[in-house]
Amino acid sequence: MIPIDSAAAEIFAAANNTIALTGAGISVASGIPHFRGCGGIWENYDPEEYGTIQAFQRNPAKVWIALKIFCDIMDKARPNPAHFALASLEKLGYLRTIITQNIDGLHQEAGSNNVIEFHGNNRWLVCQKCGKRYPNTEVVIDLLPPLCVCGGVLKPDVVLFGEIIPREALYSSYLEANNCSVVIVIGTSAAVEPAASIPRIASRAGAKIIEINPEEEMPSDIHLSGFAEEVLPILLEKINRLSIQQDAL
Ligand code: NAD
Repeated sequence: MIPIDSAAAEIFAAANNTIALTGAGISVASGIPHFRGCGGIWENYDPEEYGTIQAFQRNPAKVWIALKIFCDIMDKARPNPAHFALASLEKLGYLRTIITQNIDGLHQEAGSNNVIEFHGNNRWLVCQKCGKRYPNTEVVIDLLPPLCVCGGVLKPDVVLFGEIIPREALYSSYLEANNCSVVIVIGTSAAVEPAASIPRIASRAGAKIIEINPEEEMPSDIHLSGFAEEVLPILLEKINRLSIQQDAL
């Protein structure tokens, strides 16, 4: 019998229009806790109370107390072997696009070029009054909330609960989902809509779903149970080996 990850490698190697959907789980090994992690952050700062646009508009200084903790964690995080494996798959021509729900920018830092950020990017701050954007490295986040030169409140350029997904990200993600033959879904509980619907859209359009997650979070054709930072480098190695064998034939 073919070990399950060999089957996944064969599907990958045979397809030329594979996309990935990634979630918080892929960045856990980089030191960023996911919602269900036992890092304590999410337990102390309920996303309902600190993660909605309504809460931010009501009391930005209070919400910024939590945002600053997330910013500090994300600033220190570096890509892990899972991010690097996906970047290699793109370079080798096996992966077309990454749609990420993450806001940490680690896919790009690892070398991936074609990344759709569904929920924005924490490395930028945007003024709620005039729309000016600042790299977070240019803003001293000392007094909360940080302010724009115009006096408006700055917010990380991320989609808080209650905000709409940037139109371009939504449109291109749905286009990708409708036009791929494989989706590799990594480290997401697929509980947050509309990102959660991407594998469903792809599946309805005939794509195969490969899930990498210690938990089985969704219906899939292949579930690779394990940590992304361990499974993805093995998958990459197997795909490389298959491609060498095929070239030798
Ligand atoms: P989630 O917290 O709901 O689920 C995380 C999933 O990752 C779980 O299914 C868990 O079993 C799995 N997981 C844990 N460790 C893993 C590992 N090492 N390898 C593979 N899988 C692992 O995350 P979500 O579905 O992405 O939804 C959370 C929302 O919060 C997203 O919209 C995201 O924008 C945001 N978020 C982002 C970050 C980040 O940018 N790194 C971190 C936390 C939350």
